[in-house]
Amino acid sequence: MGKKYNVAVVGATGMVGQEIIKVLQERNFPVKKLLPLASARTAGSQVEFNGQNITVVELTEDSFAEIDIALFSAGAAISEKFAPMAVAAGAVVVDNTSHFRMEAGIPLVVPEVNGHTVPKKVGIIANPNCSTAQLVVALKPIYDAVGIERLVISTYQAVSGSGKEAVDELQNQTADILSGREVKSNVYPHQIAFNVLPHIDVFMENGYTKEEMKMINETKKIFNDDSIKVTATTCRVPVFFGHSETVNIQTKKKISAQEVRDLLSKADNVVVTDDPANNVYPLASNCAGKNDTFVGRIREDVSIDNGIEMFIVSDNLRKGAAFNAVQIAEEYIKQ
Ligand code: NAP
Repeated sequence: MGKKYNVAVVGATGMVGQEIIKVLQERNFPVKKLLPLASARTAGSQVEFNGQNITVVELTEDSFAEIDIALFSAGAAISEKFAPMAVAAGAVVVDNTSHFRMEAGIPLVVPEVNGHTVPKKVGIIANPNCSTAQLVVALKPIYDAVGIERLVISTYQAVSGSGKEAVDELQNQTADILSGREVKSNVYPHQIAFNVLPHIDVFMENGYTKEEMKMINETKKIFNDDSIKVTATTCRVPVFFGHSETVNIQTKKKISAQEVRDLLSKADNVVVTDDPANNVYPLASNCAGKNDTFVGRIREDVSIDNGIEMFIVSDNLRKGAAFNAVQIAEEYIKQ
């Protein structure tokens, strides 16, 4: 029998944590003991794993004594404080928050692109921002074939990307509006129901949002290529699950739309969904709960010589977080 591991899920009651537990189960990850950790607010509640109810425990400095692998998704401040403690206790950390992503020496990993950067020894491995993970998995075959000069990205991101309170906010606002009640906004600065907010995370001095700068910087780090020019506008839309993105790719050498379709249909965990004559293209409503990244509307840009347009959709809680994190853990244990 193969080796089994004690796995801690930090933020086990959150949108990402709950999805991590599902993915561990679906992929038969070799778990000896699962330790669901969260705040004092939900300690004592239960999560289900492989048919068993497991009690959620409050995260403390002593939580990692017997842990081999710790999957963190409880916010950047929690990772900043507790991830080094987990490593000191002998665990490898896969961190879903933004805290360590751009730190030199910390690998930022999407296994289909740079799985070889997963270290052999314990330490912190960062999981990218959700919009970046699905983007780079779809770009990798094009990058390898013809090179990428510049990317112009627009996103349409689901509220589950902001956590469970945001999911409740969209639900409540929708019901309130349809019942003629007053709308209250707590998570977002404006009403998200029946609206589009060109604003994700905080604004930076250069006029971009932090989410946009994450996409720009993380894409370069994952490809290990600072020469790719990237610009992005990220929007929050009233969708519960699944981020959508339009991407304009200026390639170094000419590639046809059909060549892109052929390349992507051979790529791992990418599904080409591109039959416009039959109204077939990727949809957020079709991707919830799936690990794949769906790509469609693939066409040659009519405005430049080496340009490809495409539409990329994936479940932000899966490739954007839980699936990618579990894939990283799988790479780690392979070694
Ligand atoms: P969420 O639904 O709000 O869940 C937050 C989790 O963190 C809950 O389990 C919560 O426990 C726990 N937590 C909060 N404060 C804590 C504390 N002081 N001690 C221990 N646990 C604490 O948020 P989420 O969407 O899962 O996101 C979690 C993290 O993952 C964030 O950093 C986010 O940026 C990142 N991320 C999210 C996505 C996404 O698509 N949602 C994608 C990539 C990365 P309680 O239930 O006890 O409060």
